[in-house]
Formats: sequence, structure tokens, C-alpha cells
Amino acid sequence: MANIAKRASSALEESQPVWEYADAPESTEIVKLEDRYGLFIGGELVEPKSGRWFETINPATEETLAEVAEAGPEDVDLAVRAARTASTKWRKLPGSERAKYLYRIARQIQERAREFAVLETMDGGKPIKESRDVDVPLAAAHFFYYAGWADKLEYAFPNRGPRPIGVAGQVIPWNFPLLMAAWKLAPALATGNTVVLKPAETTPLTALLLSQVIREAELPPGVVNIVTGAGPTGAALVEHDDIDKIAFTGSTEVGKVIRRTIAGTGKRLTLELGGKAANIAFEDAPLDQAVEGIINGIFFNQGHVCCAGSRLLVQEPVFEPLLEKLKDRLQTLRVGNPLDKNTDVGAINSRAQLEKIEELVASGVDEGGEMYQPECVLPERGFWFRPTLFTKVSQSHRIAREEIFGPVLSILTFRTPAEAVEKANNTPYGLSAGIWTEKGSRILWMAERMKAGVVWANTFNRFDPTSPFGGYKESGFGREGGLQGLEPYLDLDPNGSS
Ligand code: NDP
Repeated sequence: MANIAKRASSALEESQPVWEYADAPESTEIVKLEDRYGLFIGGELVEPKSGRWFETINPATEETLAEVAEAGPEDVDLAVRAARTASTKWRKLPGSERAKYLYRIARQIQERAREFAVLETMDGGKPIKESRDVDVPLAAAHFFYYAGWADKLEYAFPNRGPRPIGVAGQVIPWNFPLLMAAWKLAPALATGNTVVLKPAETTPLTALLLSQVIREAELPPGVVNIVTGAGPTGAALVEHDDIDKIAFTGSTEVGKVIRRTIAGTGKRLTLELGGKAANIAFEDAPLDQAVEGIINGIFFNQGHVCCAGSRLLVQEPVFEPLLEKLKDRLQTLRVGNPLDKNTDVGAINSRAQLEKIEELVASGVDEGGEMYQPECVLPERGFWFRPTLFTKVSQSHRIAREEIFGPVLSILTFRTPAEAVEKANNTPYGLSAGIWTEKGSRILWMAERMKAGVVWANTFNRFDPTSPFGGYKESGFGREGGLQGLEPYLDLDPNGSS
């Protein structure tokens, strides 16, 4: 990008040459957009009974991509009925037969990987190198992984007579639209459940492309249904009487509403909610590696990541050198067109999210934090926010307590490992944590004390379908991924005999 030179700090210019990057845009020709997308119910795209449609836009350009059906309660009811009808046969299919469909879906995602990646980037604003190298391959990997379990449930839960629960209602967010659909669908289908999935309002298109793949894989009609819409569509799904289980990923606020709504109904529930993870750098940490992990931890996907390392805790002796390295690295991040293969930080997903980030950042300045942003030129249209660091942050500041869900890092310091533990756990959340140190014994000592579902050591944001992921406290409960991710979709004999 031509403006990269403008961003380089003078300190950086003195120490190393500044490279110009030629534009490297990914073509959008591979994506064939429809003008309008209906609801995926009973194996077909159908017009909404509600008669309502909404627009989905590209957050990098504010251009309308397509109109999408808004499912009302009547549409949600049709989708749940379709799932219930399909359940009778699907739950009785041998696991090896169910696996065949999952393998087909996985292979189709791989074959159409570029199309999925470009569409994900257009609809959500994330850099193409992330949708291409992370979201889409991981989505395929989830289907492959759970296809492998479909005929081995008796081995996974010996003598516990694993049986499908029935119909699952699944509500997903906008930060990893296709990947979250895969996290939800693959274990549900492998265990013999049928599904009604509600994608987020701002990012429905890859789920709808997935509906094409599902049809081409000849999955029996009604096994997967996709109802698009906003919060009220999700609420209608959660409230529907004939749903057996709700799986939700999104904000803690909505997670609490859902928990209250279904209390006493007997519906099963898993919640994967917000986070405010501590990324902890000790004085013996390999600083250059740590810088890469810290940058990836907070600026990956514009910080729209529930497990983002949004609080950096630095041991005092290395605070100054680490801060300097972080500032230098920030200058080299390329912010802009998400379809450019060189882009590191793309567009903020929506105007509403941008406003939320701006409000929290303003509170950080008001409360006495010291803000640092690189000098980058932002595109004129679309929703953008500069990668941002805050120092002089205290634990009571809102930017140290609330989930910003944007490219904003709050930096605090500590002196002793015990203080690091206290500060890291001083949050209502408990989703993830990172530890940077050369000492193996310290990694184990710290990991034991972190109240977090995932603890990364000398790395961050590593995901794998075989690893369980989930939280404690206000980050929710239940695990997705791994063998543990099967359990929420199964009735298991508690006495251990089938
Ligand atoms: P929400 O929790 O509102 O959205 C998550 C999903 O739930 C979306 O599909 C949403 O629909 C749906 N939904 C909204 N209200 C209800 C309801 N009452 N019942 C059932 N489903 C509902 O998150 P937002 O998109 O509003 O983001 C707000 C904040 O939440 C962010 O700023 C961020 O801090 C946090 N967040 C955290 C995520 C995480 O993974 N931890 C993911 C997303 C957001 P729709 O999008 O169409 O409104």
C-alpha cells in the first residue's frame, strides 16, 4: 500500500528500510451474489412468511451486497417443524451414514474455499488472509473432525447409551460467521440431532452459501434449517416450545437473557460468551516472539474475538522495552481494504460496533489512560478504527474491565507472579489467558491458577477442532470442540449402563 511509508515512525525509519507494498487485491469474481436470499427451510430457500427483508452490507465500502429474508415467529416455527420431522429418520441413521454427509460437506467447503473466503471478507470486513487461512480451513476441519466421531459415540461414552437430544436451536455471532456455523452444526449432526441455525444480522451470507453446499451434499431436507434475521428472530427460536437445546455464542448480556428465558423449561443450554483475557508477559519472556503473540492476540480479526488478549500484563522490568517494540510493530500493521492480501487489520464489522469501540476508547482517555495509535490513513468510506494501545491503565478503568471487541489493547504492569495471577483473574470473565515466559515450571504454576477455559503458553489464538473451548464465570459454560463438544448434544445415561 502506498501510504505505508507515511506510517513509519522516525525511529523505525532510522533503524530499517521502509517497504512499499503493491496493491494485491483478491478478485471478487468467484462470488455470485443473488439479489435476494430466502430462508433455508426443509431443504429449500423459501420466501419469508413475515414478508420482511433486510440489507446486508460490506462494512469496508458500505455497499449493499444483497437482501436477506427476516424470519418472523411463523417462519421460525416452520423451521422447527421441519427439523422435528427430519429428526425421526436422521437420529436412527447409523453413525457411519451420518458421517458420509459430514465428510461431503467438509470436502465441498475445501473445494469452494476461495469463494467462501472472499464472501466472508465482503460480508464481514475481516482480512482475506484470515478468512482464507483461518476461518475457512478450520470450518472444514470441524466437519472432518466430527465426521470421524459420528460412528464412534459408543467408544466416546462407553456404557452410557449416547442418544441424540432432538432439535437444537443455534444462535451465532458475526465475528466468525462460517466458523461458528461449523462449530455448532458439525457436533450436532454427528450426534444425530437436527438443527435450526440463526446467523447474525450483519453476516448472513456464508451461512446461506453453506446451505447450497448442504443441498449439494444431499443432506436430507430439514436436518439443517437456517433462519436469518436480527435479535427478535433469535429470541423466537430460543422461546420456541419444541426446541430441545439452545447453543448460543455472543454477548454476555444476551446470554443472560437467554438463560432467564429458558429457565425451568427443561431445554438444555450451552453459552459461549464474552471475555477480557489477560496476556501475561514475564521478564524472561522471549520479547520478539511475545510481541507477535500480543499483536495477534488483540489485532487478529480487528479484535472482534471473544478470547482476544485485550489486557496485556507486563512484568515491570520489561515494560519499557516491550512497549517500544509493540509501538514499532503497530506502525507496520497495514490497515485497510480487507480484500487486499497484504492487509493485517480490516474493517470494523458494523457502524454499531464502531460506535461502541469509540465510546469505550473515549472513556479510556477520560479516565486517565494514555492512548497510542499509529499514523495510518484510513479509507474514507466504511467502518474503521486504528490499532490502539493504552498505557497508564488501572484495573478500575472501563477499558480494563469491559469487553471492547475491537482493536484496542490495555496495558497494565505487575511485579510478582502472585500479583499477575490476582490481576489476570480480576474480571467477571474467564475464557482465555496467555503466558509468556521461558520457564516451563512457571507456565504450569500460572496455568493452574488461571480461571480461564483456555490457557496458551508462548502463543495465542491457536484453535484446533480436537481441543475443547469454552469459559467460566460470565464467559459462559459448556465446551465446543474435542470429545467434550459432543456431550452437550447427547442424552447420556448417568448411571453408566446402556
Ligand atoms: P449479540 O449477543 O446481540 O449477538 C449474538 C447473536 O445473538 C446474534 O445472532 C444476534 O442477532 C442474536 N441475538 C440478539 N439478541 C437476541 C435475543 N434476545 N435472543 C436470541 N438471540 C439474540 O451480540 P452483538 O452482535 O449485539 O454484539 C454486542 C457485543 O457483544 C459486542 O460488542 C461484543 O462485545 C459482544 N460479542 C461477543 C461475542 C463473543 O463471541 N463473545 C460475539 C459477538 C458479540 P443479531 O446479530 O442479528 O442481532
